[in-house]
Formats: sequence, structure tokens, C-alpha cells
Amino acid sequence: MTSTVDLSIHTRRRNLQRLAGEVFDVLIIGGGITGAGIARDAALRGLRVALVERRDFAAGTSSRSSKLIHGGLRYLQQGDVGLVREAATERYVVRRLAPHLAQPVPMLFPLANRREYAKLSVGMWTFDRLAGVADKERHRLVTAEEALDIEPRLLRKDLYGAALHYEYVTDDARLVIEVVKSAAGLGAVVANHLEVVDFLTQGGKVIGVAARDGHGEGDIEIRGRVVVNAAGPWVDRVRMLSERDSKPRLRLTKGVHVGVPSDRIGLSGIVVMNASDRRGVFAIPRGPVTYLGTTDTEYPELADYPQVTWSDVEYLLDAANRTFDLPTPLGAGDVVNAWAGLRPLLHQEGKKPTELSRQDEIMVNEAGLVSIAGGKLTTFRRMAERVTDMVCARLVEIGQTLPPPVALSDQHPISGGEMGGDLARFEDYLASRVREVRRDTIARLVRLYGSNATAIVDTMERDPARARPYSHDSSLTPAEVEYNVKHEMATTLQDVLERRTRLLLWDLGCGSSVADRAAATMAELLGWDEARRRREVVEYEKLVEYMRTPAGDGVSADDEPHAARA
Ligand SMILES: Cc1cc2nc3c(=O)[nH]c(=O)nc-3n(C[C@H](O)[C@H](O)[C@H](O)COP(=O)(O)OP(=O)(O)OC[C@H]3O[C@@H](n4cnc5c(N)ncnc54)[C@H](O)[C@@H]3O)c2cc1C
Repeated sequence: MTSTVDLSIHTRRRNLQRLAGEVFDVLIIGGGITGAGIARDAALRGLRVALVERRDFAAGTSSRSSKLIHGGLRYLQQGDVGLVREAATERYVVRRLAPHLAQPVPMLFPLANRREYAKLSVGMWTFDRLAGVADKERHRLVTAEEALDIEPRLLRKDLYGAALHYEYVTDDARLVIEVVKSAAGLGAVVANHLEVVDFLTQGGKVIGVAARDGHGEGDIEIRGRVVVNAAGPWVDRVRMLSERDSKPRLRLTKGVHVGVPSDRIGLSGIVVMNASDRRGVFAIPRGPVTYLGTTDTEYPELADYPQVTWSDVEYLLDAANRTFDLPTPLGAGDVVNAWAGLRPLLHQEGKKPTELSRQDEIMVNEAGLVSIAGGKLTTFRRMAERVTDMVCARLVEIGQTLPPPVALSDQHPISGGEMGGDLARFEDYLASRVREVRRDTIARLVRLYGSNATAIVDTMERDPARARPYSHDSSLTPAEVEYNVKHEMATTLQDVLERRTRLLLWDLGCGSSVADRAAATMAELLGWDEARRRREVVEYEKLVEYMRTPAGDGVSADDEPHAARA
């Protein structure tokens, strides 16, 4: 059913040796969706690929998005027809290649009067045609009564009607990790917790990088014929290691999401909320947590965990309270967690954050360093194609013969996407193999790991003790953590709970109740001593605390949490 890639601490160690000893056709800096997508595309073309990530795969913006593989309806308002077309086409491709990570969910757009109703109707009609939306997913205008049947918690007052259409919900960090695994499965040499600190040059041209190992295994030099900087918000910082006097090209804006208990709102799908400044802000249900977002404000500093302020939180809670008729309004006590990401947008003179284009741009400097910035999670595959086309052109220029490609990137399944589109049938099959495991646990595994859930179920079948959840209120099992460690290069507790199992976001307790026991499983698999195990738990608890307690306005990011280190 699936081909499982070996990505363990041992693979990582071997990869560090290979990175230091081989010359790669393309060396990619940054393991967010952009870098991961390029690594997969280049590996599919038969190139020798290296990918290095400073913290963990998806640790940057690619784990903080709204998690929509969306058609780009809002770009229509900005007149960005090209982006609408590309985003809309791509969501079908992502759904075909990784169905578990692109699930269609109804989205309701409440409208206050006939004029709004008519205006949106024209916009959506245009979008459906431009985007080639499938018949069953085309928009529909509904009356206020129908809207209330769909979402009974909508505020009745001022509700004239609503537009109903479909968005695809993903899990951004899982998508990145599956794309990295795909690239590794095709031969790419990947390593997380490995930071590029300088460039190696020869005759004024970049020929590689110097990188520092976050797990204390020393510094290494890595050589690549073409070097690609896909460092997201850090693109300027990395680029300036190569062109020290150049000006920044990015303008960073911060986007915040706030998680609240789903039973406080009780939504069946996504709702576009009515924010105080009339921006479209979403409420997106995801199991026990519904997240509200996002904001869009200037954020000049680089930060691993950009600071969420109370005014960000209040803005989002206020949007929910203006949209829903709740027994008691949402307040500070309802905040499960709050997280922020930085949009790596290209600077455009005189534009407000919300007006900046989401289009990507590829820049090549005199030293031959290729930098890519901007773009969307949704369009990662097309961005990757464009960058790899450029990489191939440069390889030909320097006299390399290109190898025959392995497969086309819109045809080759993404890791985890090998069970077809019928997730319910796949769940039935897995559930029949381990009848003692709760059905919601299996459903969660399929949603997170797709066809790779088979490997976790294999472990559960072999060793029933590994199928037992850590606690009665969590579905996390040792079998899942073992999979993260052996096949997804998880080397810290944050790697597991924040970006692979996603408990930090989708668990009402942010995974705190199982942190200790998950760390014990990791200690057993990774040979941690007791001090390291305890340090991992303490660091994780600090992160949970940080996510739960937004700061006052004007605080600095000095208290940012960090991953524990060996
Ligand atoms: C709030 C918000 C909501 C969004 N919602 C959506 C959405 O719903 N749908 C959508 O399609 N898009 C969305 N986006 C946009 C999308 O998330 C981003 O465009 C995308 O994640 C950027 O990915 P990236 O790989 O370029 O950057 P990142 O994910 O930040 O990856 C860059 C990586 O480079 C690493 N790095 C940095 N410096 C170094 C170094 N020196 N050495 C090695 N590695 C390094 C970083 O650690 C990081 O992991 C949203 C963005 C935000 C902020």
C-alpha cells in the first residue's frame, strides 16, 4: 500500500556525512513548503539534491498558515487573475496527489443586505468559471433561513443571506513533512536542525555553504552546483550573507490565529466572520479546536515565534462575537492557544499589508545564488517547477548533462497519498486490522498520515502495548511517536508534538497531558538520558505556556521559546 522512507536519527547522521562529502546538483536552504517542494521537484527530475533546515521542517511560516489549499477567491478582489487560476488549478492537483491533506469543507459567507448579495454573486460566478470549479463544488446563494439551518449559531440580526462554496483544508506542517519524505524517498539528502551560516565562494560565485549542526555534531561544508535560498521570512538574511551591502526585498507581515474550544461555537464548516475593519476573517473547525484567523499587520523583526498581543486576540474574538449568537461571548478564558506566522511578502512601495501581492518572485544575484520569496502554500508545486526549471537551465549553462526525469510532479503521489480518495474505506480497512484501537484514533491517523498510517498500524498489530494511548483523554500512542522518530526525522519533543502529531494546535490541552510519556518513548528510541528527557518536557511546557498567554502590546520577542538541544 505504501513505501515507507527511513528517516531516523541514524539517517540524519549518515546524511550529515553525505552532505559533507558529496557535490550536489542543487542545494536548498530552508525546509518550509517552498524548499521541500523544490527538493521534491528536483529529485523527480533525477537531480542530486540536498535540503537543509535550520530548525525543523515546517518550523517557520509553513506551520502557521490558515491551512487552506484555497482557490484564491480573495485575489479576485485584487484583480490577480493569474494567481486565481493557478491557485484554483493547484488545489485539484494537491487533492489528487495527497487526498488526506486537501479535504473539501463547505465555507459560508454571511451577507448583510441585497447589495452585498448581488456583488458577491457576480464575484463568485466569475470565480467558478475562471477557476474551473467542479459542478458539485460551485457556489450557491442561500437565504438567511437556509444559512441558519447550516450554521445555527450565526447571528440572526442583519443576516440577509449567505454564499456557500468549498475550500480545501490541509495541515500545513504535515504537508511539508510529507513533501520532504517524498523528496527523500526519491534520493534527496535532507537534514533538519542544520543552519546555513555562510556561503562558500570561488571566483565570486557561490559553490556551497557552511552549516552548523543544532545537535552539536559540529560544522560542515556542503557543496552545490546551484544553491537555492528558500528561507521564507529569512530570505533576506540568508541572501545578505552573499551580498552584504544589498537592501532588504521583503516586507514581513504578521498573521495571528487563535484556537478556541469547538463546542463554544459548534460549527459544521468554515464561516467567514465579520471583523471590525470588514476584513474577511475565518472560523475553521478542526476537531476539538476551532481556529479564528487571521490578522495582517506589519512586523519588522524576524522571529521564530512572533509575539501575539492581546489586541490581536481581541480583534479575532470580537470578529467571532459579531458573527455568532453565543450563550456567552468568547473571552480571554476561551483561548486554547494562539500562534503567529510571518508572511514573506515582496516589498511594494506605498501599499498596505493587506494590499501586498501574494505572488512569488525568483531573484538571482551576481554570485549565482537563487532566492525565492512570496508565494502560497497552495501553489508550492508550481513555484517549485519554476525554480527547478531555472536550476536546470543553470546546470546546462555550466556544462552539466541533465539526467532523465523520474516522473512528472503533477503525476507522482506525495508521500501518504497512495490510498486513493476514499479515506473512509481506508479507515475501515485499518480499523479491521486493530479492532482494539478506537475508531477516532484511526481516523486521526489517516487524516494526518494518509497511506503511511499503515506503518503505524503495523507497529500496533505487532506490539499491542504500543497501540495503547498515553492517556484516556488523548489518542496519541507510542506507535505514532515511534513512526515520527524512525520515519520523519523527529529529534525533539517539539518536533513530535508541535509539527508531526499537531497536538500543540488540535488538542484542548495542547498536548501537555502526554508530553511526559511521549518524551519517555523518545528517550527509549533516541537514547536520551533522564536530564535530556526532562529538559525536553520543560522546553515543551514553556512553549505551551507561551502559546496560551499572549503578551501585552509593545513587548519584545526576547522570551521566545526555543527547542531543547542535546
Ligand atoms: C498567517 C498566515 C496564513 C496563511 N494562510 C495560507 C493559506 O491558508 N493558504 C496558503 O496557500 N498560504 C497561506 N499562507 C502563506 C504560506 O503559509 C507561506 O507562503 C508559506 O508557508 C511560505 O513557505 P516558505 O517555505 O517560503 O517559508 P517558511 O515556511 O518560513 O520556510 C523557510 C524555512 O527556512 C528555514 N531557514 C531560515 N534560515 C535558514 C538558514 N540559515 N539555514 C537553514 N534553514 C533556514 C526556516 O527555519 C524555515 O523553516 C499564510 C501565511 C501566513 C503568515
